Amino acid sequence: MGDIAVVGGGVIGLTCALRLAEAGHRVEVVADLAPGDTVSAVAGGLWFPYLAAPADAVLRWARVSLARFAELAALPGTGVWRREGVVLHRHADPDLSWTAVVPDCRPATAGELPPGVTSGVVCTLPVVDTAAYLAWLAESCAAAGVAVRRAHVTRLGDLPQPVVVVAAGLRSGALLGDPTLEPVRGQVVRLANPGLTRWVVDDDNPAGMTYVIPRGHDVVCGGTADRGATATGLDVEVERAVLDRAVALVPELRDAPVVSRAVGLRPSRPAVRLDRVRHSGRAVISCYGHGGAGVTLSWGCAADVVGLSGP
Ligand SMILES: Cc1cc2nc3c(=O)[nH]c(=O)nc-3n(C[C@H](O)[C@H](O)[C@H](O)COP(=O)(O)OP(=O)(O)OC[C@H]3O[C@@H](n4cnc5c(N)ncnc54)[C@H](O)[C@@H]3O)c2cc1C
Repeated sequence: MGDIAVVGGGVIGLTCALRLAEAGHRVEVVADLAPGDTVSAVAGGLWFPYLAAPADAVLRWARVSLARFAELAALPGTGVWRREGVVLHRHADPDLSWTAVVPDCRPATAGELPPGVTSGVVCTLPVVDTAAYLAWLAESCAAAGVAVRRAHVTRLGDLPQPVVVVAAGLRSGALLGDPTLEPVRGQVVRLANPGLTRWVVDDDNPAGMTYVIPRGHDVVCGGTADRGATATGLDVEVERAVLDRAVALVPELRDAPVVSRAVGLRPSRPAVRLDRVRHSGRAVISCYGHGGAGVTLSWGCAADVVGLSGP
């Protein structure tokens, strides 16, 4: 197996690097940010195929990840749990395509629905504490022999390896001349966990998309999805509105102190790019554009990257 460079050390780059190393390749991750400073670290961490296309491939990748996260939830120190929660619907015709790959879905009972919500789906999904999980991924990569170099890549032609995986999230387009990536800004606030385990997703909330994701010590409250917005600074008004919506949905959060806050730009693209082409005299495998579902799709996409990595 040959030498491969992976540009990107977020959830996509690290998962690809781990799987490639396990397949026998000599792998170097080149990333200009520490894992904790990536968009991946901002993710709420719920397995859910949000804002990613094409639908059929997304479901296939998500199914692979669902199985892998179930295994990881059984291991100590991964930052992954399996937790029951509810996806709320406020419209007559919700998109339920994702339920095809989730085994234990059931309709929510009336007692599980807040006022104004017409229906919901209750199921058990992976919940990932992304900071802890990225640390686990980085340790797993090191244990598998993956080298990591903290550096900015300006041109793929500068890399010595004959095969390069581009997993650079929103900035992948700059490396490959791809203008189709677009940021979708998201802001979250994390509260001390008062003892919650049940997550809630309320994307159709008329006051704004809302989710509450209890992890270990914190509860991620979101969210926003501002297409084209590039500001990475925190917006105090946005946070106030997010907290109001979260507390309205889950009153137990009313007095929970803020632990941390974050903003991230989701790498949105009309379709996830996962292919192999010749570029800059190298075999270049692209794996980017995962929108709001990079964690959700990571293991499935990494499997396809391994499939494209042969001679
Ligand atoms: C608020 C919010 C909530 C979210 N919630 C969820 C969720 O619950 N579930 C879910 O599945 N997804 C969620 N997401 C989406 C998820 O965070 C992204 O899809 C995912 O992080 C994309 O991962 P990535 O590895 O492609 O990119 P990133 O995490 O952005 O990593 C990119 C990497 O590339 C490196 N890089 C880029 N350019 C260069 C260069 N030129 N040279 C060297 N290195 C470079 C960076 O240093 C970094 O290491 C959420 C996102 C946001 C913003």
